[in-house]
Amino acid sequence: MKINKLIVLLGAVLAFQACTKNPFTGKKTLALVPNSEILPMAFEQYDQFLNENKVVTGSADAIMVKNVGQKIATAAERWLNANGYQGYLEDYRWEYNLVQDETVNAWCMPGGKIVVYTGILPITQDEAGLAVVMGHEVAHALANHGQQRMSATQLQQVGAAATAIGAQAAGVDEQTAGYFNTAYGIGSQVGVLLPFSRSHETEADKIGLNIMAIAGYDPDEAADLWRRMKANSGGQSTPEFMSTHPSNDTRINNLESWADEARAEAQKFGVTTFKN
Ligand SMILES: [Zn+2]
Repeated sequence: MKINKLIVLLGAVLAFQACTKNPFTGKKTLALVPNSEILPMAFEQYDQFLNENKVVTGSADAIMVKNVGQKIATAAERWLNANGYQGYLEDYRWEYNLVQDETVNAWCMPGGKIVVYTGILPITQDEAGLAVVMGHEVAHALANHGQQRMSATQLQQVGAAATAIGAQAAGVDEQTAGYFNTAYGIGSQVGVLLPFSRSHETEADKIGLNIMAIAGYDPDEAADLWRRMKANSGGQSTPEFMSTHPSNDTRINNLESWADEARAEAQKFGVTTFKN
């Protein structure tokens, strides 16, 4: 029976505190729920999110989201392949959708399922700005930050949610479903998202910068994007993206100092001109 199988699997995984090496950082990270179990569930959650929200299709903005997303995905694949991680993205099923929602937000679930909210477009302004955001979100997914920010107990709940969703069971416990959404960065419940830790933000910034450069976008645009994001946060409300991705001068300084390195990395892939 599927549920029993997953419980046994989860138990075994938790008992051994399985570690996987993150190909981007070389660091060992705790992977409590294996991708083979989580990705199909994530895909289902993603489809459900699209069904419950207004997906924009055919507009210039929607086409831009797909184009930039494809370039970011291709860059991530090239980078991983070149660094000896062929097959790492084998189970990814990349998808890029623009959703009509004035929240300043974007996210990527493990498996390459990306959503960009229309509310972030006035800040991203153009393709390069969007590449900053999408590169950053893809980096969180590739580095498995969603799983890492959960406690073992919460991850067990995620496992339970995954089982219930996978088994098409009706009435997944709301809190459990909330944990799943939190782990995978889904913004369907505004306010329940846990922020990523500062170290995860820094990691995603750095990985994202390399990916956007390999995709042919000027890494200098990253600091500019976060400057605009910071300016935008001065209003009466805190944008969703800001609350989970706190912007600060250190982040902007870091991005500026890493830009040359990102361009050098891109040059290894024959990318010598950068769109800004
Ligand atoms: Zn982030």
